[in-house]
Amino acid sequence: MRLSRYFLPILKETPREAEIVSHRLMLRAGMIRQQGQGSFSWLPLGKRVLDKVCRIVREEQDRAGALEILMPTIQSAELWRESGRYDDYGKEMLRIKDRQDRDMLFGPTNEEMVTEIFRSYVKSYKDLPLNLYHIQWKYRDEVRPRFGVMRSREFLMKDAYSFDLDYASARAAYNRMFVSYLRTFTRLGLQAIPMRADTGPIGGDLSHEFIILADTGESQVFCQRDFLSLPVPGEDTDFSDDAEIGRIVKEWTTPYAATDEMHDEAAWERIPEAERLSARGIEVGHIFHFGEKYSKPMGAKVAGPDGKDHFVSMGSYGIGPSRLIAAIIEASHDENGIIWPESVAPFDVALINMKAGDADCDSACDGLYAALTAAGRDVLYDDTDQRPGGKFATADLVGLPWQVIVGPRGAASGEAEIKNRATGERSTVPLAEVAARLS
Ligand code: ATP
Ligand code: MG
Ligand code: MG
Ligand code: MG
Repeated sequence: MRLSRYFLPILKETPREAEIVSHRLMLRAGMIRQQGQGSFSWLPLGKRVLDKVCRIVREEQDRAGALEILMPTIQSAELWRESGRYDDYGKEMLRIKDRQDRDMLFGPTNEEMVTEIFRSYVKSYKDLPLNLYHIQWKYRDEVRPRFGVMRSREFLMKDAYSFDLDYASARAAYNRMFVSYLRTFTRLGLQAIPMRADTGPIGGDLSHEFIILADTGESQVFCQRDFLSLPVPGEDTDFSDDAEIGRIVKEWTTPYAATDEMHDEAAWERIPEAERLSARGIEVGHIFHFGEKYSKPMGAKVAGPDGKDHFVSMGSYGIGPSRLIAAIIEASHDENGIIWPESVAPFDVALINMKAGDADCDSACDGLYAALTAAGRDVLYDDTDQRPGGKFATADLVGLPWQVIVGPRGAASGEAEIKNRATGERSTVPLAEVAARLS
């Protein structure tokens, strides 16, 4: 992509309304545009990151056996009356009327709707286990939308819903999502800690929140340092092996970890001081087992091997891709801008032509652009006529993992400078070797 043809509205000034660094950097780097309270458009650079995050989330859901669907954002109040949540949900639900004066709502979550789908088709235990997920916009009329996409009113959520015959298999489904989440957050370059959590308006009796430690986090959390060195399950994890998946969950739930709502001060005091980590955290994912909470009032049942009908045992599993992007930036930036983990970087390489219009620089950069693209790297080529200082600042701000810099001297000697955004390390490399070095 040539920057001269791209839409990257960089802000020179620090936006005053932004209280935390991720919000400031997302606005400054031209990733998002605020459209109203807690509502944002995703501009080209931001959209690329959002897509990359969703792709990783999707791959790890699929790997764990979940099936992707897509449900509407606008729901009928009828379903929510069936579950009893229409009145309970309160002001966070955006309620709408259609032209026939029917009560509608913009979905804050989808337990009811997915249960309606399930009960319409699935009648036998032989069709279980089943886990359906979608990645769809949600709306919650938050009391205090703030921090940009970290707490917005309209936000993207991946929500999965599992259906099983009994508690044991529902627990196995919960475990698969638990392990899938560990893999997802690691691939996003984050260290997320699963913590025992309160179940809130979703209800149920077993729940973990996945928390990123960060000073700007809104939750107070307590955990043992052991988490920081636990092995994350690899790509070869066998999700059909309940015992192995259960072992991993056990390993990741043995050290102490709790959010303040679930905190047990007495248990905490028993942990040696040096092992305790009391910090602020950002909730990026949340999983629940709630059994028959929706299947019973909504009549979602299957025939079991005993020939009798059983209400299915359910769980739900949420991840917020839009909040995650802010969390990634909170965890990975410096005074000059964002430092993207390779897996979600909007482009891999910033190619900087220090003297656009100079025949040698242009031809060296054109060659590099072609070679890097052929090697499968996504390149953002700064071919604009800005001064070098401005180009370097932009490249640091948008935080692509690699910068390849070509000036008149390098073009003449057939060399480019490569800079690693994260470490700041620089090396001079013959033009012909740049693509190989970066692939
Ligand atoms: P919070 O405690 O931050 O209000 P929640 O517990 O209400 O979040 P869940 O219902 O557990 O959220 O939703 C699952 C995930 O959706 C959260 O873990 C988070 O990643 C994301 N999410 C929830 N609310 C928002 C929001 N207002 N803006 C952005 N992402 C959100
Ligand atoms: Mg909330
Ligand atoms: Mg919460
Ligand atoms: Mg939650």
